[in-house]
Formats: sequence, C-alpha cells, structure tokens
Amino acid sequence: MAQPSLNIGMVGHVDHGKTTLVKALSGVWTDTHSEEIKRGISIRLGYADTVFRKCPSCAEPECYTVEKKCAHCGTKTEEIKTVSFVDAPGHETLMATMLSGAAIMDGAMLVIAANEKCPQPQTKEHLMALNIIGIKNVVIVQNKIDLVSRDRVLEHYQEIKEFVKGTVAENAPIIPVSAQQKINIDALIQALDTCIPVPEHKMDKETQMLIARSFDINRPGFTYNDIKGGVIGGTLTQGTFKEGDDVEIRPGLKITSDGSTRWEPIFTKVTEIHAGKSKVKKALPGGLLALGTLLDPSLTKGDSLTGQVVGKPGTLPPTREGFLMKLDLLKRVVGVTNEAEINEIKTSEPLMLNIGTATTVGVVTSARKDVAEVKLKRPVCVQKGAHVAISRRIDSRWRLIGVGIIED
Ligand code: GDP
Ligand code: MG
Repeated sequence: MAQPSLNIGMVGHVDHGKTTLVKALSGVWTDTHSEEIKRGISIRLGYADTVFRKCPSCAEPECYTVEKKCAHCGTKTEEIKTVSFVDAPGHETLMATMLSGAAIMDGAMLVIAANEKCPQPQTKEHLMALNIIGIKNVVIVQNKIDLVSRDRVLEHYQEIKEFVKGTVAENAPIIPVSAQQKINIDALIQALDTCIPVPEHKMDKETQMLIARSFDINRPGFTYNDIKGGVIGGTLTQGTFKEGDDVEIRPGLKITSDGSTRWEPIFTKVTEIHAGKSKVKKALPGGLLALGTLLDPSLTKGDSLTGQVVGKPGTLPPTREGFLMKLDLLKRVVGVTNEAEINEIKTSEPLMLNIGTATTVGVVTSARKDVAEVKLKRPVCVQKGAHVAISRRIDSRWRLIGVGIIED
C-alpha cells in the first residue's frame, strides 16, 4: 500500500453511519477506545486507510472497488490511490474533536441517514464547520436506504438539496447507499475519486505536521529493553520527514517552577515512520502518518500532544500565548432547536478556539465589532493568517459562532 495521498473526513449526526461506512470502505472498525465500544459512539478521532481500485474490464461505476479482485468478473483490479479516513465523532458534546479533525481533512463525506428528517442538529453544525474551515470538496452520502421506501429516498433527497443551498456543499453529489448492506459503494468510490482530488502538496516548504493523536504503545509488563519511544500521529501539511531526522515539537512541555509556568519546545529524533500499513523511510504530505520517536512514552500517552506541531528544529511558527484576530461571526447559532441570534463578542468572555488540531480556551481581553484580542489558557504554535474556529458557551455547551483570522 502506498502512502495515503489525502485525508477524507467523515462528518454528520451521531448514528447516521459514519463508522459503519469507514468499515465498508476499509475493513477497519475505528471505534476502538473501550468507552467508545461501550457507548457505541466515536469519542476520539478514528483512523483507517484504504486503496481505491478500479477493474480494467468493467464499466463505470461497477468497476470501482476496494477489493483486489473484481466482484463482477474476477479480474485483478488496479490501484487508483490510497486514502486515509478521519472518523469524527457526531455526538454534540464532541464538537471540539470534530473541529480539530477538520483541520486535517482535504475533503469530507457528509453522512445523512435517510430514515430521519434532514437536517438533524449535528448534520447542520458539521456542515457549518466545513463551511467555516473552508472544506470545499464534499460528497454527501444518503445512508440507510435499505430502511426506507423509494419515495422516502426521493423526498429525503429534496430535503438535502434544500438544506445545502448556499453552502460549500450546494453542488456536492448526493450518493444513496447502505453502508451496512454495502449497496452502491462503487458509485460512492467513484464520487470520492472525482470530487476529492489529491491536494497540491507543498514539499518545498518548511516541514509542518499537525498532531492529531499521540500514544504510548507499550503494554504493561514490557521490560526496559522492549520499551518503545512515544508515537505521534497526524498529517504533514507541508514539507517532508525522513527517518533519523531531528525534530522540534511546539508548544512542547509545560514547566512550572517558582509559581510561574512556561512552555518549552521538545526536541527529539524520528526513529520510524509508518504510513498506510507500511513502514517508510520518507514521509510526504497527504494522509495520516505515525512517527516513532525517542521521547519518553509518558510524554505522548493518551493524546497528550494532540494540537501541537512538529517540524525541523528552529523552523516552526511562534508559540503564542494570545493573539489578535479579525472576526467573521455567523448570524445565528446552529445545531440547536432554538437558533438564537449571535451577539457580539464581549471583553472577558471565554471562547473555545480550534486552531489546526489544537483546542484551547481564550479569554477575550479586548473586543470591537470585528476584532478581538484573546489570552490563551494553553498556548498554540501557529502562523499569522491562520484560521480559528470560534465557539461560545451557550446553555452549557460550546457552539460554533464564527471564524477568526490571526492578525498578530
Ligand atoms: P456513527 O455514529 O455515524 O458512526 O454511526 P455508526 O456507524 O456507529 O452506525 C450507527 C448504527 O446504524 C449502527 O447500529 C449501524 O449498524 C447502523 N447502520 C449504519 N449504516 C446503516 C445502513 O446503511 N443501514 C442500516 N439498516 N443500518 C445502518
Ligand atoms: Mg462513529
């Protein structure tokens, strides 16, 4: 399997079939966290890779598959490209995870179940997030068609058309499928292949990898000699890494001494690179990667480095404790039954900010109509001009209210 060349995000309301669809497309069940299995929801970002293939003898769309042998004629299929799926949670309390996942999506499948009226609250909230983050390559999946009549499928199609009017998904194809019964998966692969192209990869720019997950892969009982260094997973947005490279991670480690805290960058070495299902010598921008490092695994345990950035020493953007941002707020709150108007941002209110894969809280230190200055609870490593998804606490939940652009 080649290194994945792009990330496709799975978004949509809880239980509409995102995880089942990833399974149908890749054979991987991404809900592996024990709490996820118990509660039947995706809590953290799930990953899976697959190869899109095409049968050289069959007609479109029957020729599209993920199987090595064509189910229609038995011919050996040819590889088109390897993709990574980022399975975002649909539960409304997990919007922060969805937003940090969205930072690494090159395109997205918006999964909408046909057995419920469209739009459901998080269908709306996730589409708004795609809109705000600027993910334009969207394929709409009308799922669970096995549960409803043909008339309902057509009616639901009209509900979707009405719902996406004026959004990034206005002209997105709508593919009716059953993820569970594997109906129409070939047409879906065709749509994904054509509508979510491999992005232009900036290999000549300074290396930057956004960390989406980090792990301690050691099992209890490992002896000292077996211990593996900390593992970080994420996507290279630009540049490349080689095995053996020295790297810097920012903001790094929180150091508290004499009652004051500061953040110090972490320096380490890349010992292995995993891309797709294989170990590679060199990592390119595109799909999801896992880097083995010399870090003490306690530093990477339990996603503790999620939101940080990896690069070559001395080349990363600054670590910011706060910034000024230009605001573009929505008119109304989405994802709730009562879509109240969004009021201006006020001094001293806390906001949840998603920047790259980082989630942090910023307290507003000064605000005017279209700019706000924030002081962060947890610093971020980010360049000027980057986008910030802004959420506000409304009725005890964080709700997306707009986007900011970092000015300074
Ligand atoms: P997620 O929350 O969007 O990830 O949804 P899941 O993939 O966990 O699916 C939620 C439930 O819907 C599970 O019980 C699935 O078996 C079921 N499901 C998913 N896709 C289909 C489908 O196409 N048809 C039917 N009948 N059930 C489905
Ligand atoms: Mg799921």
